[in-house]
Amino acid sequence: MLIFSDISSIKPHLNKLKKKGNIIGFVPTMGALHNGHLSLIKKSISENNFTVVSIFVNPTQFDNAKDLLTYPSNIKNDISLLKSISNKIVLFNPDSEEIYSDGIKSQQFNFNGLDEHMEGKYRQNHFQGVATIVSKLLSIVEPDNVYFGEKDFQQLRIIENLVFEKKINTKVVRCETLRDFDGLALSSRNSKLSFSSKKMATNLFKALNFAKEKFNSLDVVEIEKKVIEQMTAYSEIKLDYFIIADEEKLEPSILKNNLKYRAFIAGYISGVRLIDNIKLY
Ligand code: AMP
Repeated sequence: MLIFSDISSIKPHLNKLKKKGNIIGFVPTMGALHNGHLSLIKKSISENNFTVVSIFVNPTQFDNAKDLLTYPSNIKNDISLLKSISNKIVLFNPDSEEIYSDGIKSQQFNFNGLDEHMEGKYRQNHFQGVATIVSKLLSIVEPDNVYFGEKDFQQLRIIENLVFEKKINTKVVRCETLRDFDGLALSSRNSKLSFSSKKMATNLFKALNFAKEKFNSLDVVEIEKKVIEQMTAYSEIKLDYFIIADEEKLEPSILKNNLKYRAFIAGYISGVRLIDNIKLY
């Protein structure tokens, strides 16, 4: 597997591959790879000739210095995992100076309201940072297809909107959320949870399932009230939000129209912030 850390060396390599007619897939990640990431990478491998995986913990999307410093990282393990999957992977693992040579700051984007609620509301400037890094990486890799997980559904919609608005010549491919046997959505942050906190964290998934079960029989307001009650009963859980919103505009709704809805949840489990969502249709 070829590993690049400089833009000036990965670009000519990818250009050579493209000139030979190869289709390029791209999976941006922040590393500490788990089976969720691997499902995106495997999908890309099956749909493209080569897959670029980037591992970069992006400083501009963190609103909290301690969260950035303690973000899980295990590059050695990541490299051996990637090597074991396929020899059609190209790893891009730059450092901050390479990406932010003109200073560690976000560009400013208009997300047409998609960042108004949920993560956009609870994590200051998070999506400006995400869009900054994704647009930088897309301009370096220029992939035919780029893969994003529904686990971060608001991020996925924001990237779809970015690619559309900026007329970036790539196809955004949605990938389903991979879960543990008990329903807990796989996340790099799960490695920071103790055994009992992991068990406690499955209550986020249970709350989403409760919403799905009751979506046709209860009012949205009632569902939200009951979920908030359920979550506040656990002292280890500090809920940020539980929201039912439509998939297209991500506007919280108390009415059921003829739209596709999802339930979104975010909260701290023993100090570790987790997010999850499921479709309600
Ligand atoms: P991250 O390293 O957390 O930035 O994630 C990189 C990509 O993997 C993003 O597109 C995520 O949505 C996706 N991802 C993370 N966890 C999962 C999961 N459990 N299932 C599917 N995709 C995931």
